[in-house]
Amino acid sequence: METALDPARRLLREVFGFPAFRPDQEEIIRAVLRGRDALVLMPTGGGKSLCYQIPAMLRPGTGVVISPLIALMQDQVSALRQHGVAAAFLNSSMSHEERQRTRAALQGGELDLLYLAPERLLNEDSGTLALLRRIEIALIAIDEAHCVSQWGHDFRQDYLGLDVLEDHFPGTPRLALTATADEATRKEIVVRLRLTAAERFISGFDRPNIRYTVRMKNGPGADLLAFLRERQGQAGIVYCLSRRKVEATAERLRNEGFDALPYHAGLSAQQRRRCQARFQRSDGVIVVATIAFGMGIDKPDVRFVAHCDLPKSIEAYYQETGRAGRDGEPAEAWMTYGLQDVVRLRQMVDESEADEDHKRVQRTRLQSLVAWCEITQCRRAALLAYFGEQYPQPCGNCDNCLNPPKTFDGTLEAQKFLSCAVRAGQRFGAAHLIDVLRGRDTDKVRRHRHQNLSTFGIGSDLSARQWHAVVRQVVAMGFARVDAERHGALVLTPRARPLLRSEQTIELREEVRLARPRRASRPRPEPWEMAAADEPLWQALRTCRTRLAEEAGVPPYVIFHDATLKEFLRARPSTPESMLELHGVGQAKLERFGHAFLEVIAAADGADDDDPSGNPP
Ligand code: ADP
Ligand code: ZN
Repeated sequence: METALDPARRLLREVFGFPAFRPDQEEIIRAVLRGRDALVLMPTGGGKSLCYQIPAMLRPGTGVVISPLIALMQDQVSALRQHGVAAAFLNSSMSHEERQRTRAALQGGELDLLYLAPERLLNEDSGTLALLRRIEIALIAIDEAHCVSQWGHDFRQDYLGLDVLEDHFPGTPRLALTATADEATRKEIVVRLRLTAAERFISGFDRPNIRYTVRMKNGPGADLLAFLRERQGQAGIVYCLSRRKVEATAERLRNEGFDALPYHAGLSAQQRRRCQARFQRSDGVIVVATIAFGMGIDKPDVRFVAHCDLPKSIEAYYQETGRAGRDGEPAEAWMTYGLQDVVRLRQMVDESEADEDHKRVQRTRLQSLVAWCEITQCRRAALLAYFGEQYPQPCGNCDNCLNPPKTFDGTLEAQKFLSCAVRAGQRFGAAHLIDVLRGRDTDKVRRHRHQNLSTFGIGSDLSARQWHAVVRQVVAMGFARVDAERHGALVLTPRARPLLRSEQTIELREEVRLARPRRASRPRPEPWEMAAADEPLWQALRTCRTRLAEEAGVPPYVIFHDATLKEFLRARPSTPESMLELHGVGQAKLERFGHAFLEVIAAADGADDDDPSGNPP
């Protein structure tokens, strides 16, 4: 007996080349096939697209997908076409003729999927809505549904108009999909898109393939270079806080031989488009960007996201790092930060135009992130806890789990520092207070007669670097805060009292090591730990993929994902049948590209068989 999902599973296997649905996908597809509306909240890379693509192919009529960005639309459509799916888009980048052709295909009932920007759908002059009302619609999927939220950073006016869809297409299942987390946004989506009757599918936020690492800033740029050198040829995003730093970092990386491009709001629209297209379409490009580089990114094989400066909040960090590893392969979220970042971000909040309530929220969010940076337990568990999710720690895939930090009773050090700040009138920043603690004879010390303070010189046993680590942690734990109005002065919070009275003790990270971490202790991402013998075939497979991608005018991952190339490497298929067994290989792709890869593999296997002595067999 066939169940409702069997045809869906068959499409998954034969068209997309995947053996099984992920648990949530199955539930969602079942609901949509029953004609239900759905609100889908799934982390980036969770596999939202299949949730509407497969039902659109199975239900009679065309599935309409509303998506905010033209560039993404084009990539999705070309990826679907490579799978042999009848998909098209309508947007302003097309010629009149192309548009006519798509309209004709639509009217002829030839399309399984049609991608549209919201403005095109709602614009009366385009006649799109009228056209869609004349044909059979399988479902309507609203991607990036959080764009409807006026409080979010991705707000799009046009999304507000999408509430009319219910009137025009009564009874047609509608899906709203997003990766954005919070409860308030979720409610707004339901109300504004009139999805009160929708089934809700809220998947967990864990991104198990992302490894989280946070480091203290060492020298400017040195850590980043060391990090990147171990990841030659991988695609990634490096975030910096300012345009100037973006430019400087990109140039430095280029000088070091990396294929790096700058991206920020100060570039022309054309420059930005070109940068995005290069990143999306080629292998191994690094984009150095301010947060302006964001939503348009739908590249599945981003192997790392590096933050050279602290992001604004845990939400922002989660969203930005979420751009790594959408293909489910191991990826890295790496960050360096220092107290100076906290000072700068506080300043930005304080000087912004926002009202006082808003600023308070921003400050709290920043503080939560700083605290997260300094925790000594599993980062993943803490990150998920922030979003209200339980995670059984340790995860084994974050810096704290891989190299558990040693801690020591730092109560005395914290007390020394806090009382020094009080004695100096809570008007000074970390650098000067540390000079006082260490008993240094500087102009500033003399100008303020701080050599007379009782705390002068009581901390000469620690280096400046060690003291900085203490200060950072004391701030992260909320015993003191940075007052941006007073140029980064450190001010005590009410929490400092019990600590100063020794009613409480604190544990500090013993990360005061002066030397750089030993090589052996540095975790290496496993996926690229490829046997040396496999390296030539791996490169040959990638070259083959690049060539096919260029011929087809699509990004390399549209031909086959990294995961599939690795399958080739592992299984070394020698026939089309054995290739079809592998993850990511469907019938259409096999016919189009299988042969080329089989040749590459056969050539490599032939070379392996050669007698190393060079003698003929
Ligand atoms: P999202 O839109 O949620 O960020 P996508 O729909 O782009 O995610 O899917 C992310 C990746 O996961 C894609 O590379 C996709 O091919 C892959 N994927 C989706 N569903 C499955 C599945 N059932 N089995 C294996 N891979 C899948
Ligand atoms: Zn962990």
